[in-house]
Amino acid sequence: MTNLIESVKKATAMKSAKKKLASTQSKKPRAKKTIPSADTRWQTCSICKTIPERSWAFWKGGEQQENNLPPSMDLFKIVGEPLYDTSTSYSNNCLMQCPECKTYYDWDFEYEFLIGGSEDEINLTRLSHAEGEKRARAILKDVEAHKAQFAEQAPQHVDALRHAPREPERLKAAADFFFREAYTGSDLAVALPEILRALSRMESEQDVVSGLRTVLFAYGRQNWQSLQTLLKHLRDTGMDRDPMLASAPADCEKALRANCRICRNLPDAVTVLLETQDLPPASNQLVQLGLHFHQCSICGTYYFRYWDTFPFVSGASDEQWLCRFSPDEADLLQPFWEVLPNHAEDMAFYVDEVFDRMPLALLCAFDDRDKSVRALAYRCLARFVAGQPDHARQVLDFYRQHEQSPPTPRTRINTDSLELQKIIRECEQVLNCEPPASQ
Ligand SMILES: [Zn+2]
Ligand SMILES: [Zn+2]
Repeated sequence: MTNLIESVKKATAMKSAKKKLASTQSKKPRAKKTIPSADTRWQTCSICKTIPERSWAFWKGGEQQENNLPPSMDLFKIVGEPLYDTSTSYSNNCLMQCPECKTYYDWDFEYEFLIGGSEDEINLTRLSHAEGEKRARAILKDVEAHKAQFAEQAPQHVDALRHAPREPERLKAAADFFFREAYTGSDLAVALPEILRALSRMESEQDVVSGLRTVLFAYGRQNWQSLQTLLKHLRDTGMDRDPMLASAPADCEKALRANCRICRNLPDAVTVLLETQDLPPASNQLVQLGLHFHQCSICGTYYFRYWDTFPFVSGASDEQWLCRFSPDEADLLQPFWEVLPNHAEDMAFYVDEVFDRMPLALLCAFDDRDKSVRALAYRCLARFVAGQPDHARQVLDFYRQHEQSPPTPRTRINTDSLELQKIIRECEQVLNCEPPASQ
């Protein structure tokens, strides 16, 4: 059976190798083409090619009159975000950039108060590359100035936190300062340890305490990186056990996901023909962690991308698909994410077959020839099962089903595997079951 799995693996590897070769070959004629200039490359961009020079939306008295703004502009980055944004609570302007072809656009919101109904208008205009670069430089200068100002003012507020709970006025000023800075994108990493220590020394009903907690929530919602920094400091200071902060990481993650411009433009799962169809443009914005595993850099969501060939008499039909890991599935694979790109290929082999039954995929991985793959699968499952009766039951159910029903070659559970026996014992312990007499 192991040999069978190995041979399927080899076939998959050969397929990937063939694909690589095919893509190298198809690149050759392209090299003869002239490289499009910065001002025309939008014409071949999957996001921009259908976007006109100018598009707009117009409202009168709150009612929409016209709207031809392209939906794909949702993928544009805002230069200097979050210091600059697309708030429509005042007349506002910002510079947008396509993440794929780097073309710049001017986004402009005009609000005009009129008796009988105000008029609101949004205009989106493509800019020349030179104009866009000039404006981007000015914006980045602003961002740098903001950073310098933060670096200059932060120490006095960190100092105030050190004296908590004394000097409540200074503490209040510090909470206000860090709250403002969290929303304008400053990196609060330098202040986090003192914010958390101050919180641990104060009575929870104080105003300043709720202010500082809000700072942590706002910071964790900046992006995936800031959330990881927050998590690390919460653990380091033991404040992850504080009942008022325990839900902070999950709440931040939820908010990041809900507002993510990349993920909201991707369905939970999508399948396309490999040669003739493209995955949604947003998929190009994901960061590749291993050939098949991708991650969104804004909200941290993980994705799985795979392809397969179905040979038909009339010719081969190649499909590729992209699936999003649910937070629970991603959590199960946590030890695996930490060692990527190691074993990315091996794990993809198991994950592909039983995507929506991830614990089963890991049980099957106990049959891998590679000891370190087996150890990794064990680490994932042991963490999943620890102290979680629901999870233990789920793993045991998969195990029993596969003992009884004839397994497909790729989802074979090797009941002789030591790792498997160990995880089953752990499941039984979690469920307070008597271990079987044979063990
Ligand atoms: Zn573009
Ligand atoms: Zn995302």
